[in-house]
Amino acid sequence: MSEKRAVERRAREVLARLRMPEPWSIDALIGEVSAVMGFEIQVQTVPPEALEDSPCGMTLVCPGQAVLVVAEGSPRWHTELVICHELAHMLLEHQSGEKPPRELLQAWFPSFDPDDVQMMFGRTTFDTREEQEAELLATLIVDQGTAKKSARMLGTFLG
Ligand SMILES: [Zn+2]
Repeated sequence: MSEKRAVERRAREVLARLRMPEPWSIDALIGEVSAVMGFEIQVQTVPPEALEDSPCGMTLVCPGQAVLVVAEGSPRWHTELVICHELAHMLLEHQSGEKPPRELLQAWFPSFDPDDVQMMFGRTTFDTREEQEAELLATLIVDQGTAKKSARMLGTFLG
């Protein structure tokens, strides 16, 4: 099997196990992934400078919860895609085991005890294959969500 094929297969397997919320919304999706993963998932926005080294997004994993960090001021569709991308890393179990730099936590997340943060998911810590898997799964999730939304709108329109 080619690498590209393997990436696609993995993403589709995870997608098939995920129950798409109905009606679809990013919050409902976060709730669903949270139930699958067994921990709480929160979203926190930070100034874009905080994510300089992680152009996409970043997830901090603490005991019992994960915090998805996204840049403030991004267009809504972009924020939703970044959230889906980070959720995809979780669902695909891309554990880097790396801890975020202490200075980064102290500068941007003063409410966190740096010792509580067990590890992070973030673009810079993954190899390309994992990025491809996450990006593909995120795209598939957004596609399904959008398809459901437009089907519903069309249903309303047609009565
Ligand atoms: Zn990523």
